[in-house]
Amino acid sequence: MSGRLFQWSSTWEGYGHVAPPHGRSITTVVFDLDDTLYDEADYCRSGFRVIARFLHNAMHLPLWMDEDAIYQTLCRHFESGNRTQTFNAAMDELGLPYDDEVIATMVRLYREHRPQITLPQESAEILEKLSRRYRLALLTDGYLPAQQYKVEVLGLAATFEAIMYTETLGRSYWKPHTKGFEMLLKRLRQRVENCVYVADNAEKDFIAPNRLGMATIQLVRPHRVHDSPPTEPLAAPRAIIASLNQLPAALKRL
Ligand SMILES: [Mg+2]
Repeated sequence: MSGRLFQWSSTWEGYGHVAPPHGRSITTVVFDLDDTLYDEADYCRSGFRVIARFLHNAMHLPLWMDEDAIYQTLCRHFESGNRTQTFNAAMDELGLPYDDEVIATMVRLYREHRPQITLPQESAEILEKLSRRYRLALLTDGYLPAQQYKVEVLGLAATFEAIMYTETLGRSYWKPHTKGFEMLLKRLRQRVENCVYVADNAEKDFIAPNRLGMATIQLVRPHRVHDSPPTEPLAAPRAIIASLNQLPAALKRL
């Protein structure tokens, strides 16, 4: 895998926004992270373990309420589709008192925990295979240091030639803003028409790369957290695959 570092250059020629007349020549594959290279639900469950431990240690709980009972309650609310008020719903069900401060502490512990997640074998194999033919990069939204921990723990730090954490630009530059993509391509000194973005979330992932003129491929994992359809034509991916194993062939068809 490539461990090259990008370099800024005054000779950079810029990147065009016009597709070439004779189809695409893809040189660079930019990946999303969560639910693209691993199952995001694994990260959520890892965070719920930390939250369960915190509550078990910090609160006066009835004897029956062990760490695992709290963990299972958090998982159940998450898996039933509650993705925004999971902590509140679990606390309500468990009958535990809480206020905004307790919830804020739980959110902080969740976002700052060092996750127990592993890179699926399929992802490792496909990344290794693609690295022989393409330049690889990563662009991910989400809170720091959560995203940095994920990259580190999954062993992906040296896999990509460049990594763009959009959070470092400011939260207003999370997808679907185009700035992160533009900066990443500038670092790589690649033209948009030679790049493809591979991601999972049709609600927000493809708007910016489509707008810039990049190719887009949606990976639809069976256990994905987000399954909203595209909300506008610009949000639709150019191609859809059901597993990363289908990516090498899909890249050749662009
Ligand atoms: Mg994602």
